[in-house]
Amino acid sequence: MNTQDYIEREGKYGAHNYHPLPVVLEKGEGIFVWDVEGKKYYDFLSAYSAVNQGHCHPKIVKALTDQAKVLNLTSRAFYSAALGEYEEYVTKYFGYDKVLPMNSGAEADETALKLCRKWGYDVKGIEENKAKIIVCDGNFHGRTITIISMSTDPESYKGFGPYTPGFEVVPYNDIPALEKALEDPNVAGFLVEPIQGEAGVYVPEDGYLKAAYDLCKAKNVLFIADEVQTGIARTGKLLAVDHEDVHPDILILGKAISGGVYPISAVLADDDIMLAIKPGEHGSTYGGNPMAAKVAIAALEVVKEEKLAENAERLGKIFRDELRKIDSDMIELVRGKGLLNAVIIKPKNGKFAWDVCVAMKENGLIAKPTHDHIIRFAPPLVITEEQIMEAVEIIKKTLAQF
Ligand code: PLP
Repeated sequence: MNTQDYIEREGKYGAHNYHPLPVVLEKGEGIFVWDVEGKKYYDFLSAYSAVNQGHCHPKIVKALTDQAKVLNLTSRAFYSAALGEYEEYVTKYFGYDKVLPMNSGAEADETALKLCRKWGYDVKGIEENKAKIIVCDGNFHGRTITIISMSTDPESYKGFGPYTPGFEVVPYNDIPALEKALEDPNVAGFLVEPIQGEAGVYVPEDGYLKAAYDLCKAKNVLFIADEVQTGIARTGKLLAVDHEDVHPDILILGKAISGGVYPISAVLADDDIMLAIKPGEHGSTYGGNPMAAKVAIAALEVVKEEKLAENAERLGKIFRDELRKIDSDMIELVRGKGLLNAVIIKPKNGKFAWDVCVAMKENGLIAKPTHDHIIRFAPPLVITEEQIMEAVEIIKKTLAQF
């Protein structure tokens, strides 16, 4: 079978809920992936920042396979020997009293929303069914009905109503708007991405997160950070909120907490918040299973052992500097933090970001457009300076073709 055959088979038997770049991958190692015809590529998406530790990291894969031979799934009907070890590890790692383990990023966001509402009623004393959560214009927190109910992107929400009530949208990176919204005493939480990844790597002004956090504190409102995409060293710190020394009341993690090896997500909070949820009120059959527990510990160890945050910080600066030097009238703007970056593409002769991505693929680097005019560049954080420079050459050469 060739590339086209694989694509046609997916198109025939799979739902059409994605529009992938026409490349069929079958192998990955570190920062590279190979297609079914043996062609090698730089991976500059990292499965939307899930593969921060690099593809098939041997330590993480070993944790998975070792545990796979011993015990896979207990459900939470019983205790498991692995779960407590992970819970202790991850809570100390991020500095919280407790963790609630889930599987996907969207599930973790849903969990945080439920937790916030429950805290709002039981602890803050909001009248039943009146709790409100503030979210930001341009947000992306996943694809469930409740999450798309807070979305401002018609592609996410249109055609899927009726929507879940209880959310108010404020502009991103706008402190006065947040301050005004926080005047309502029924507000239980403020949910924010420290950098809006899916929206196109929108980096708020320095000080925004800290100011938002302080306003929330003043109003007894939970500051909830969705670090599913920005977390685990991607932006040059362990968490993107660490750039402003903010410690969220609720922290949402996913993607790279497993290094891309297994679907794992987590919600972290201190006891006064987390214990608002009681036995039977929330859960998931696979959440916190023994394989997830072992994989997450290994993946988080790799982040520290290999100094991935430091690498992302250093190489991110070099990468942005080099991109800004490229002489192309298609580059409108380069922005990002650490190794979460985006180039805003000015269309030329009817060619858009998609066409640039297809041409980059031909030249040996894969990245994906977000919207029509933005290309996100987010390689695994194990990349070296030499490899960054090689990747820049591919991007430069590709743009010169237009
Ligand atoms: N939150 C953020 C900030 C994300 O970027 C994403 C996915 O891109 C999600 C949540 C949803 O994660 P998942 O696709 O694992 O459900």
